[in-house]
Amino acid sequence: MVESADHFSFDHPQNQGYGEQKRLAYLLQSDPNYHRLKIRFLEGWKHPGKQIPHIHAIFKIMLSEASFKPFHEYRAHVVNAPFQNNPANEQFLFHGTTRSCFLVEDKYKVRLCDLQRCSLCRIIDQSFDIAKCGTNHNFNRFGWGIYTSACSSSESFVKIVPQTSTTSPEADDYIKNTDKAGTLRVVLVNRVIVGKPYEQCRNATNLVQPPSGYHSLTGTPGTNLNYEETVVYSNDAIRPAFLIVYGDAPPKSQSKTQALLSRMFNTSLVG
Ligand SMILES: [Zn+2]
Repeated sequence: MVESADHFSFDHPQNQGYGEQKRLAYLLQSDPNYHRLKIRFLEGWKHPGKQIPHIHAIFKIMLSEASFKPFHEYRAHVVNAPFQNNPANEQFLFHGTTRSCFLVEDKYKVRLCDLQRCSLCRIIDQSFDIAKCGTNHNFNRFGWGIYTSACSSSESFVKIVPQTSTTSPEADDYIKNTDKAGTLRVVLVNRVIVGKPYEQCRNATNLVQPPSGYHSLTGTPGTNLNYEETVVYSNDAIRPAFLIVYGDAPPKSQSKTQALLSRMFNTSLVG
């Protein structure tokens, strides 16, 4: 245990019981983080045409202290950004990705899978890798970076698409349980070192780093973009922090009395 360890490190004294094999902590609804993240998620749901979803669960993600070392070093490098209380302008921002397994289908399914194509498990296991980002998208609006947003309903967040495989037990399980698993979606909430962002209106697909003197790029709504996006160009500028599981609201269960009356009169009750 390391007293000065990051709060999201499983070497921190508050995170006893977590480690390489146990990365996710289920948050109770009474947890202050749950409340804060729920508000952030709902306020970030900007698309009027998309129905506001139900939050099924929120998990805290823990990484090794070794994984946080380059993140802390990067943050120390960025402290000259002009923000007094938050000198590196660290922000919680959303990032959607693909999931090819059953992770977080319920609060007990917290073991990461081994599938290379399961981007969600690979990010929780090893954090972000720019070399792999964008492989799910045909078009990178602001170049080769890691895309995040304060908007939780961003179109760039990809629907879970399990791929069939005869060698993967997870994929086989998924096929058997498609009805049950069909509506759940996941989004990562990340700690992003935004620093001094360069505001970009138009597409700039050839970028591999922010303009000189800036630490990130913020795509502002306008000609090419409907909702704001923040792009960082270093793996060390971002770490996953929370996972929100959302989807349609679960069906309301009948009360025992309703069920009994329904059976007695062989009819269904409304209300
Ligand atoms: Zn997985």
